[in-house]
Amino acid sequence: MTGIYEKLLGAADKDHIKIGEEMRKHTSFRVGGPAACFVTPADGKELAAVLALCRREEVPFFILGNGSNLLVGDDGFDGVVISMECFSSCQVDKETGIVKAGAGASLARIAQEAYKASLTGFEFAAGIPGTLGGAVVMNAGAYGSEMKEVLKSVKVLTPQGEEKELSVSELSLGYRTSCIIPNQYVVLEAKIRLRDGDEISIKSRMDELARRRKEKQPLEYPSAGSTFKRPEGYFAGKLIEDAGLRGFSLGGAQVSEKHCGFVINKENATAADIRNLCEEVKKRVFKNSGVALEMEVKKLGRF
Ligand SMILES: Cc1cc2nc3c(=O)[nH]c(=O)nc-3n(C[C@H](O)[C@H](O)[C@H](O)COP(=O)(O)OP(=O)(O)OC[C@H]3O[C@@H](n4cnc5c(N)ncnc54)[C@H](O)[C@@H]3O)c2cc1C
Repeated sequence: MTGIYEKLLGAADKDHIKIGEEMRKHTSFRVGGPAACFVTPADGKELAAVLALCRREEVPFFILGNGSNLLVGDDGFDGVVISMECFSSCQVDKETGIVKAGAGASLARIAQEAYKASLTGFEFAAGIPGTLGGAVVMNAGAYGSEMKEVLKSVKVLTPQGEEKELSVSELSLGYRTSCIIPNQYVVLEAKIRLRDGDEISIKSRMDELARRRKEKQPLEYPSAGSTFKRPEGYFAGKLIEDAGLRGFSLGGAQVSEKHCGFVINKENATAADIRNLCEEVKKRVFKNSGVALEMEVKKLGRF
């Protein structure tokens, strides 16, 4: 990707650009080689300028939230990774129950702010280790609730560089999908609509869900959460267990013994170990049950 750094200098402050940044530092799997350039735009203007440049110069780019649903290849990504880290504002209007937050705000923080204002409805998201932008893209959900139920509207940047406010019905939110990626939108911020609640009940719900996660999920190892989507009518973890794959490992990657739906980085796994393990799991589950598993985790770069 020769010359891209020099071109980026025209769009972003040089202190906001890193060359050859190891993506393992930015993914919850703790794997992934270098990104040719890694940009952390400080504001909307810089973000728009970087995106416009990448599009004009046909440089591949990738929008990064918290990297908690992402597998980056060992040979890295020959393009520009754009981190949304700086878009982390979070404002709560207690009167209306509306929380307005930037795409880079963590779900944990939003849940904390909502709790402090005695607003209920976001407890389910407190333990999902992603950003608001990533949660909109994925329609993240847990314990019977999902983003679709709490989102009011989402502000995006279109490929033409225009800001647009989308209502929840325009987002085509489905099981772990939305219209964001197909339309090449970038999520800038979102409004969440919550209800008046009771501080003690909110806290106890969050504590209860955190306890359940700790008990059921291998949080002591790097992972990207549930690796596979839930196939209609089945549970991925159960299908994997039934195929005899509990604890199955390949290189440093393993099907978690605690929760078969999680592939973990057990011991210095490479991205290739994780990818190969996932492929093998898919093959064996299909052979055993006839069900085709699909990755929930997004892949980026060369393996
Ligand atoms: C231990 C653990 C537990 C988890 N539990 C859950 C769970 O209960 N429920 C659940 O749904 N998920 C869960 N996940 C998965 C993950 O946290 C969610 O999918 C989360 O929504 C991803 O957000 P992120 O910011 O990390 O996105 P990333 O992984 O950074 O990105 C995911 C996708 O979103 C895109 N993206 C990110 N931000 C933007 C933006 N601003 N604009 C446009 N595109 C963007 C990226 O390009 C990428 O395609 C878990 C993960 C882990 C590690």
